[in-house]
Amino acid sequence: VETAVLDGTGPARAIRAEVAAAAAELAAAGVPARLAVVVATDDESSAWYVRSIAKAAAKSGVECEVVDLGADASAERIREELAALSGEPEVHGIILQTPLPPGADFEELASSIAPDKDVDGANPLSAGRLAAGLPAFPPATAAAVLAVLDHHGVPLAGRDCAVVGRSTVVGKPVAQLLLGRDATVTICHRHTADLAARTRTADVLVVAVGRPGLIAEQHVHRGSVVVDVGTNPTPDGGLVGDVDPAVAGRVAALTPVPGGVGPVTTALLLRHTVRAALAESGG
Ligand code: NAD
Repeated sequence: VETAVLDGTGPARAIRAEVAAAAAELAAAGVPARLAVVVATDDESSAWYVRSIAKAAAKSGVECEVVDLGADASAERIREELAALSGEPEVHGIILQTPLPPGADFEELASSIAPDKDVDGANPLSAGRLAAGLPAFPPATAAAVLAVLDHHGVPLAGRDCAVVGRSTVVGKPVAQLLLGRDATVTICHRHTADLAARTRTADVLVVAVGRPGLIAEQHVHRGSVVVDVGTNPTPDGGLVGDVDPAVAGRVAALTPVPGGVGPVTTALLLRHTVRAALAESGG
């Protein structure tokens, strides 16, 4: 089979261009779009991700403020910071980085992010609104999965989709977004009895687990469109997804790792931030 590469760099570039145009308008109107990133960890992959957000923001003309509270910050200190940023008119988007210090609960803290600034859909209110079909920012990674599929013209209505992984940040919101597009959705997780039986017949397979090689030849068919959200660091400093490389050549289409969902995720965080700024400025 000739496997199409569903790359994310193309859609990311298109989204960043759209963001740059909106950001320039906002700056000209005296309301530069601003994203605040709250960090309370020394984790190296978190630091890498924050740098990539800051770089993408700089390219698009969005201000990015990294608020580093240190790896020993208390939950109370993080909550106060999120509440303070929520009240700052100059800040339009707020994200809370993981991992968090021991004793700090992500969902509980994210409840302190004002819903209209919750550009990574972290506040449980945003998840509830998304599930109810009301306007809300979805988590950027989940939105990125849909953006990659849309950019490459993959139809969803009436089709069978399998999502592997049911986390609050990726699996569940991806399933919600696919449902919202009239797909028939199966959600698989670590207790799923026969994973291959669930994934093999899907038209579209989205994998967000964090286990290299989890999806192999027996989990797909020749017509599968596979989105690999997994990002697993390798000992040599590289990155691999959850899909066995042998799957390439045996499916219709596959996203690369790196260069798939990742770059679209950061671009969408910025899109959400300019949209929040436009909404606030009445645009
Ligand atoms: P998580 O650990 O919160 O959730 C993993 C999910 O996988 C769980 O729901 C679990 O039930 C399921 N699972 C575990 N083992 C399984 C198995 N053997 N079979 C079926 N399901 C199984 O992880 P997460 O935060 O959702 O992230 C998933 C992956 O996506 C990670 O590799 C993460 O690094 C990556 N990620 C990438 C981006 C991006 O922008 N590209 C963003 C967020 C997360």
